[in-house]
Amino acid sequence: MSTEFETVVGLEVHVELKTDTKIFCSCKTAFGAEPNSQVCPICSGFPGMLPVLNKKVVEYAIKSGLAINAEIAPYCKFDRKNYFYPDLPNAYQISQFYLPICTDGYLDINVEGTKKRIRITRAHMEEDAGKLVHEGTIMTTSYSLVDLNRTGVPLLEIVSEPDLRSSQEARAYLEKLRSMLLFAQVSDAKMEEGSIRCDANVSVRPLGDKNLGVRVEIKNLNSFKALEKAIEYEAKRQMEAIEDGEPLIQETRTWDEEKSITRSMRTKEEAHDYRYYPDPDLPPIKIDQEWIDSIRQTMPEMPDKAQERLMGKYGLPEYDAALITVSPYNLKFFDQCVALYPDAKTVSNWMMGELSRLLNQNSQEIEQCHIKPEMLADMLKLINDGTISGKMAKSVFEEMFKTGKSAGHIVKEQGMIQISDEDTLRKIIQEIVEQNPGVVEDYKNGKEKAKGFFVGQVMKATKGQANPGAVNKVLSDFLSKE
Ligand code: ADP
Ligand code: MG
Ligand code: ZN
Repeated sequence: MSTEFETVVGLEVHVELKTDTKIFCSCKTAFGAEPNSQVCPICSGFPGMLPVLNKKVVEYAIKSGLAINAEIAPYCKFDRKNYFYPDLPNAYQISQFYLPICTDGYLDINVEGTKKRIRITRAHMEEDAGKLVHEGTIMTTSYSLVDLNRTGVPLLEIVSEPDLRSSQEARAYLEKLRSMLLFAQVSDAKMEEGSIRCDANVSVRPLGDKNLGVRVEIKNLNSFKALEKAIEYEAKRQMEAIEDGEPLIQETRTWDEEKSITRSMRTKEEAHDYRYYPDPDLPPIKIDQEWIDSIRQTMPEMPDKAQERLMGKYGLPEYDAALITVSPYNLKFFDQCVALYPDAKTVSNWMMGELSRLLNQNSQEIEQCHIKPEMLADMLKLINDGTISGKMAKSVFEEMFKTGKSAGHIVKEQGMIQISDEDTLRKIIQEIVEQNPGVVEDYKNGKEKAKGFFVGQVMKATKGQANPGAVNKVLSDFLSKE
């Protein structure tokens, strides 16, 4: 009989804080700049240069700490993490090891209706390293180039307890963390640009076992999908190894996206000894309660509160409210649209339906697309006053999405006005009825389907512009007189 196993996951998440300048110098942090155009003697590790802490980084770290319900340390400091790598000009990374800025936080997640609290061990500030660009080969020698634009970009590393029990929970945690950081306005939180990077620690154990199993740390997870797939693959690999009596070792593995497998990078024996010690160039940071309180005052309504509001004030289902509060941009869109067209469920349906379908299809974010809240509100008004049908609205919406033109403009331009005038409809119906005496017979003999045939013909004749309600009414009058 095979044992039942439980998967155990803890995540380490690196978040780029979106300050204009780096953590210890005044170089810019813009993404995608010309290689080595945002560097200076400090962030490129010239001898004798002294780091000066960017206060904004501490402010953003405090904001993040409040977003993850953490304790903010009144006193913290920086340590050097020593290792050699070509993208690290100082041969040490300035990080926080002994006294991190945030401890003991948590996030509440919801996986298919089951709520769970995930504890966060700590969050600490550090500087990012540079980037190696593996260019190609000269003669027979392959070479790489070093881009130092990213050295000294501020990071917050957020470490969870091993409280997650499945790939779905891990994904829900990372999504929740991402939305918290977006609401707190401390990071762009773009997985695809690397402003959120995630390592997953995975182990398995027989169900009911109290001790944790041997863990494997998986690097290079740069999408939600990769996170889920890597955890699933790794948990299965470990379970099979245990069942086959093979020993598991603590190691670091990498996720191979192409092959959808994890591969060993280094084992514990090969692991670095970082020789952490306090950075002598940076004084400790004192954070008083007043500063924390004044930052707390600037925090906007966070996702959990917003979700309660949408459910309470507008009666939205939890599912809708959760999706709308995924990002502050979605929430703002919703709030602005509902202010103009106060039917929350209809607004939500359009956001979750057509809008999110088109955004996915075009790989766009709500804040960048052509559709603005007032444009959706105007279109909904046109449906509401009978100018266009729900069906016509779908093609109007698609055109709005493509061109940024208003609904009114599109309707006029394409002559899309809905036909609700009963006299006009009666004339059209009369013609169709005269052309189809057989179907009228069927109708009189009790075939309900015959009526559907006429509705379809009217729609065809009017290119979908007839108001379905009005067609039904006129048609019933008409047929009853036949
Ligand atoms: P390191 O810095 O060596 O990676 P940490 O103590 O910071 O070590 O832990 C890293 C992560 O590993 C944390 O998120 C923690 O929850 C997780 N973790 C620890 N033990 C296990 C385990 N047995 N299974 C899964 N995750 C674990
Ligand atoms: Mg680690
Ligand atoms: Zn610099």
